[in-house]
Amino acid sequence: MTDRMRAWSVMSPGPMARHPLVLEDRPVPMPGPDEVLVRVRTCGVCRTDLHLCEGDLRPKRRGVVPGHQVVGVVTAAGEQAGRFRLGDRVGIAWLRHTCGTCSACRAGKENLCPHSRYTGWDDDGGFAEYCVVPEAFAYELPPGLDDIQAAPLLCAGIIGYRSLKRANVPPGGRLGIYGFGSSAHLTAQIALAQGCELAVMTRGEGNRALARELGASYVGDAADAPPGRLDSAIIFAPAGDLVPVALRALSPGGTLALAGIHMSQIPPMDYTECLFGERDLCSVTANTRQDGEELLRLAERLSLVSHTTSYGFDATSRALTDLADGHLAGSAVIDLR
Ligand SMILES: [Zn+2]
Ligand SMILES: [Zn+2]
Repeated sequence: MTDRMRAWSVMSPGPMARHPLVLEDRPVPMPGPDEVLVRVRTCGVCRTDLHLCEGDLRPKRRGVVPGHQVVGVVTAAGEQAGRFRLGDRVGIAWLRHTCGTCSACRAGKENLCPHSRYTGWDDDGGFAEYCVVPEAFAYELPPGLDDIQAAPLLCAGIIGYRSLKRANVPPGGRLGIYGFGSSAHLTAQIALAQGCELAVMTRGEGNRALARELGASYVGDAADAPPGRLDSAIIFAPAGDLVPVALRALSPGGTLALAGIHMSQIPPMDYTECLFGERDLCSVTANTRQDGEELLRLAERLSLVSHTTSYGFDATSRALTDLADGHLAGSAVIDLR
């Protein structure tokens, strides 16, 4: 093994046209005592990576390597790390550290731990040939999922799954999905498998075609009103304008979940039209490890299919540009194999 690697890092965030991602030559990181070193095989591209590159989400430190949907192979382990063997295939996701002792951690809400750390934001992620992760936060991956299929599950899949839980959709209920990218197209498959009727409102003909292909009963443009009221809705698009639109589409007693980490300003809205009638509005903040483990098992059981576009490692910056330009349907995956 060489002791140098290539990694894409964010030096000065800005629009993708200004190339905020820079390819660097760096030392391969050393695993800490409770960490494993992972040789990256694939890494999914998430909108959060784009928010980091473009500065909508401020990088926690200069030069951080984004990428938090990593599938790779353990090539070294710290002296206290014994959970995996060398050569094991593991997944690395967004959440990579919690304190384990605060009130949120003790209440089973480690996604809200104020001391949490995140892959590709606090610590370097998987847009690199190698990365490290605390072994307790790595995932065993079901053998039935190949490297490309597994990558988008690790954030898009997990966050979508948590959003679906937060949206509280009743059995066989009507679910509306606003924005139909990587996370939404996986969430849609789970909802349909649970017997939901699905309405999808999204920009981009490619996204709308994928929604129809997956079995949505109604597909419209981003802010269109679906026919009939929704029991629950999830907004995946980072567009605050959609919040009153989606609330108006809900039945009384319905729930709207906001899945993104970043959202543009929510406009003033009319209380009677948008919230009264016991409509619930909630956000989704990261995930617990239990969410991740449940989603990976569910993905295997339901045979979830990630619709992917693969990019070589050298084309990582282009993958993010295509995401920014709305040129992608489904999930982008960087392939380092
Ligand atoms: Zn904690
Ligand atoms: Zn993500």
